[in-house]
Amino acid sequence: MLSREDVIAARATPPGSGAIAVVRISGPGALTVADKVVSRPLSDCNSHTAHLRNLVDADGSFDEALAVVFKGPKTYTGDDTVEFSVHGSEYIVHRLLKALFNAGARPAEAGEFTFRAFFNGKLDLAQAEGVADLIAADSAASHRAAFHQLKGGVSKDIEVLRQELIRFAALIELELDFGEEDVEFAGRSELREMLNNTTTAVRALMQTFETGNAIREGVQVVLAGRPNAGKSTLFNLLLQEDRAIVSDIAGTTRDSLEDRLIIDGIRFRLIDTAGIREATDTIEKLGIERTFRHISGGALTLLVFDLVSSTKEELAKDIAEIRAHTGMVICVGNKLDLTGRNENEVYAFWNDFLQQNGASAFVSVSGLNEAHREHLKGLLRGLVATDDLDSDKSMVTSLRHFHALQKSEQALVLVMQALDNGLSGDLLASDLREALNALGEVTGQVSNEDLLDYVFSKFCIGK
Ligand code: GDP
Repeated sequence: MLSREDVIAARATPPGSGAIAVVRISGPGALTVADKVVSRPLSDCNSHTAHLRNLVDADGSFDEALAVVFKGPKTYTGDDTVEFSVHGSEYIVHRLLKALFNAGARPAEAGEFTFRAFFNGKLDLAQAEGVADLIAADSAASHRAAFHQLKGGVSKDIEVLRQELIRFAALIELELDFGEEDVEFAGRSELREMLNNTTTAVRALMQTFETGNAIREGVQVVLAGRPNAGKSTLFNLLLQEDRAIVSDIAGTTRDSLEDRLIIDGIRFRLIDTAGIREATDTIEKLGIERTFRHISGGALTLLVFDLVSSTKEELAKDIAEIRAHTGMVICVGNKLDLTGRNENEVYAFWNDFLQQNGASAFVSVSGLNEAHREHLKGLLRGLVATDDLDSDKSMVTSLRHFHALQKSEQALVLVMQALDNGLSGDLLASDLREALNALGEVTGQVSNEDLLDYVFSKFCIGK
């Protein structure tokens, strides 16, 4: 593990030139280091103040910068910190970093500023991960979840559960201490109820992961279907651009194309695929294999079919094939304009049959009709559960948190079994500890070097 005594320095803004670039340094002694690269000292300035300074190194003055002084412990990292806003040139940034390294700082590792904040008790681990998620958030929903986590929303819920379990453990312990006198201080039914409530709460949090994960990663939507059904056309219609190659030669979309689409603040990852059909050559075969890989990993499949040329037998077969890989198939009947019928007639013809054969929903559209974009968007939006989204309640968006909760839940089930079997307190203790430790992993109360490395390696340098 890296020393927490060093002064660390890194650029905090993205590479490339821009109006301003920010370089920050932090650590005990950061002000002494900073003083060596500025024309007039910063160390005697008040905390949280900004100062105009010339930046200087052995070759002279090289920029005029704004230096913001933060004195610990009331800083992001908890240590003394200086942020230099310089003119956004690569050259200046490199020269400043070099000057700072010569003055005693060292390059910061990925996430090291936030790691220090964690170590100095400014943030717990879940909050620190919230910082990384917030930076990565590109939709209103993922932003809201990350911000909630950064603000400690998830941590608070975990802490409530931990406290409940600690109370439970204390009651069991009491019983243990007096075990020989055969005194039951806490009635078994009362204990069981406590445990039940906590387990239910852990499960409720776990259940938010399905939506939470979709929010964080984007809801994966695979466009599948036979060649020429209009997958690429619908893909383009949704994305409002000619992203995929549209052609009337069957099987021209050979590779999978992925793009994102934000609907109502929720990110969807749309994947156009090569289509389902007997592959006639190897390249197409690869594409088709990829279709199935996507389908098996995908949460949702839009099965696009040509309303004019498709038969019910074909559709039943395609739905079954996709259902063998994934749960939800939404049928999109395309080329409505060529059917000579209206939506209601088409619906009456297809809907019951498709649902009976395992489709979750059916819509008919024309890929050439701009107005039908909204039908498709409405359809997609309606597929994401919104209960978890619209409130301020915590949502588990991280697989790491989900696994920790799962571990905790499994241990709690064992505790419950032990209670049911009338086992004594000492036999419950280790499972109980396991459940507590697992919860503690979420917030980092229980951590080890591997876990911390894993979490902070996902950060960018300078954060
Ligand atoms: P893919 O192989 O499933 O990706 O199908 P494409 O999107 O390449 O479409 C195949 C052909 O059908 C192209 O010539 C499209 O212009 C045409 N097409 C797609 N959707 C519609 C539609 O709704 N109505 C009509 N009339 N033609 C369509």
